[in-house]
Amino acid sequence: MFPALETERKQETLPDPYEDFMYRHLQYYGYFKDSLMLSSPLLRSRQLLFDELDQVNPRLREPRELFAFFSSKGTLQAPRWPIECEVIKESIHHIVPTEGSYFTSSRVGGKRGIIKELAVTLEGPEDDTLLFESRFESGNLQKAVQVDTYEYELTLRTDLYTNKHTQWFYFRVQNTRKDVTYRFTIVNLLKPKSLYTVGMKPLMYSQLDANIYNIGWRREGNEIKYYKNNTDNGQQSFYCLTWTIQFPHDQDTCFFAHFYPYTYTDLQCYLLSVAKNPIQSQFCKLRTLCRSLAGNTVYLLTITNPSPTPHEAAAKKAVVLSARVHPGESNASWIMKGFLDFILSNSPDAQLLRDIFVFKVVPMLNPDGVIVGNYRCSLAGRDLNRHYKTILKESFPCIWHTRNMIKRLLEEREVLLYCDFHGHSRKNNIFLYGCNNNDRKYWLHERVFPLMLSKNAPDKFSFHSCNFKVQKCKEGTGRVVMWRMGILNSYTMESTFSGSTLGSKRNIHFTIEDLKSLGYHVCDTLLDFCDPDKTKFTQCLAELKELLQQEIHKKFNERGEEVNLEGSWSDISLSDIESSTSGSDSSLSDGLPVHLLNIVDELNQKMMSKKKKKKPLQTRKQRNELHQKNKLMPEFKLTEDASDRAELAPTLQKQSTFYKTLENFRSSAMKNEKLSLSELNGGERSTSMDSKMTLILRKNKEKMQSKRPGFTPSCPQRGSTDSSQESAPESSQNFLCSFRPAPLENVVEQPELTISPCKLHCASRCPQASVGQR
Ligand SMILES: [Zn+2]
Repeated sequence: MFPALETERKQETLPDPYEDFMYRHLQYYGYFKDSLMLSSPLLRSRQLLFDELDQVNPRLREPRELFAFFSSKGTLQAPRWPIECEVIKESIHHIVPTEGSYFTSSRVGGKRGIIKELAVTLEGPEDDTLLFESRFESGNLQKAVQVDTYEYELTLRTDLYTNKHTQWFYFRVQNTRKDVTYRFTIVNLLKPKSLYTVGMKPLMYSQLDANIYNIGWRREGNEIKYYKNNTDNGQQSFYCLTWTIQFPHDQDTCFFAHFYPYTYTDLQCYLLSVAKNPIQSQFCKLRTLCRSLAGNTVYLLTITNPSPTPHEAAAKKAVVLSARVHPGESNASWIMKGFLDFILSNSPDAQLLRDIFVFKVVPMLNPDGVIVGNYRCSLAGRDLNRHYKTILKESFPCIWHTRNMIKRLLEEREVLLYCDFHGHSRKNNIFLYGCNNNDRKYWLHERVFPLMLSKNAPDKFSFHSCNFKVQKCKEGTGRVVMWRMGILNSYTMESTFSGSTLGSKRNIHFTIEDLKSLGYHVCDTLLDFCDPDKTKFTQCLAELKELLQQEIHKKFNERGEEVNLEGSWSDISLSDIESSTSGSDSSLSDGLPVHLLNIVDELNQKMMSKKKKKKPLQTRKQRNELHQKNKLMPEFKLTEDASDRAELAPTLQKQSTFYKTLENFRSSAMKNEKLSLSELNGGERSTSMDSKMTLILRKNKEKMQSKRPGFTPSCPQRGSTDSSQESAPESSQNFLCSFRPAPLENVVEQPELTISPCKLHCASRCPQASVGQR
């Protein structure tokens, strides 16, 4: 209607460069879909806030719907439960098996109506029967049977809509007596191996100890044994975990758990505190990534500092972190909390990291699973970390949207690092799984970050336990999918449910603080990794080459073969010495549930028919238009090429701008004054800046290092990951390379690869098939 106004609007930017950057960045992800309408009174948007003088310096209001759950009243969005789940308010009674074979719908508060009465009624104050309960967030006890006066047999609820994945446990007992020894035995665990056989203890929490002595979760239990259950149903082997316990008080309420619980509500409380914090909310923007199957919000955090200019904002690299795709691995949430605590702090290093990176954080990928107390699956009854290639947006919304978000992020900027946090049930320490890189130019580069991390956290992180082999069965994991999308440093971080075998922490269970410290170490290592002074990087690379060389020698010696590795040793065919050891803590993909197979078939057919669709007959007008268009084509092509070339230049400059950005921002911060645009565009400062930047980076780092055993670039601490201290026999094979399969183009857009095998075998594996058996 007003062409002049139209063009004007297109060029408008928000007065505050940071607001402008954030606006454009988030707009990229589909927020603020309406066009930005600034000062025109005809086109006033309710998203804009005006100050007293009206129309001067308008600011963007936070999108209202997205923030409805964190209103100023501070109320939380109540967790939504599958409608067949009972949830207690205050009453106490034993849980009953859930009904239904796949997820249909959810509601706040779960099952409607009066929930079932106690299976046991106390017959008076002398009755010392324990009362069990787990119908609360992350609880998962299905049954407790009293087999002797002080002995109970416990059955865990399998992951909802599956008949397996028992590992995580979390339940409450009441009516305790002290000075008596109780025995608990969980009878339906499924993993043949467990850290409970090598010293790991369950966690216990006493309400009275918490109230009186401020004592929280602690490792408790004696006579701990993990063994195969003799009762065999012919299909599955079950394993038992048994332990004895003496409660500290009479009439206490106590909890037991596999690991320190961290619920969806815990996360929401944390995020609420961030949203309410006037400083943190400035550089941490909270958004809804999507809704889970049950309708719970999956949160996405964007954390970055304002940049002096849009150009510098655009030059920032991204880091993507996520956690709790496996709901029973609460370790991941504690590491994530440690990361967030640090990155949102006012420490100089945190500020520096926010200056140079855009952090994209999905702190809880599977809220439904966390709420219902699953160990591994979502409400689709499947392990989400085997479905990152899915085309089923509706059935796997959390990972579909995560992948899509990262895909868009990659179009916008380089993603330096992707890391998904997990817990591990069979190995001690903390370690990373990565992806072998086959490009000679970046040979072994994917191992530099893990090696640096092991130097920064020598008592917790084991480089020897890291593995970089890309196995076929892991193609659907976040790590492999993101790596194939182009993220070189793409990792799964595994942290044990037990403790450390390293250094001063040797034979000690990890505490919440230990896990949180790993979140800090990730930040610290990022700074080492990006230090413009490349000394640490090149030294790590040299060390990695040496380690690999030793491995190759060892392998060939074992086979009694001679090998001359001088000179071109790195060209040796590594497949000859490739390790087939899987260090992973996982199971194979189950394929899709039966009720989703039809949907995939339909989608595939739709895609096929779209491709094959015959061209409809064209009218003369259409044919003429097409003819005209073809005539113009060469011209268009030329312009496209030209713009391509124009775009190339900024890309090439990226590296230097990146450090320039740092320098400019830090020096401006030091001077404590705002840089003017002309100052920034002045140029002629580049060479001296990089060295200055190095100094600044070091300055902050050295402060940190003085407080801890520290990073020694020459790496004499290799002994900190000394293999003699390692329990895992496979550790010696961890440095071996394997050849990476040819990268698949557009791999994410391909139809589900697991469909056909599942179709063949689903009768024996899918939940529907097993209904009634258990
Ligand atoms: Zn996991």
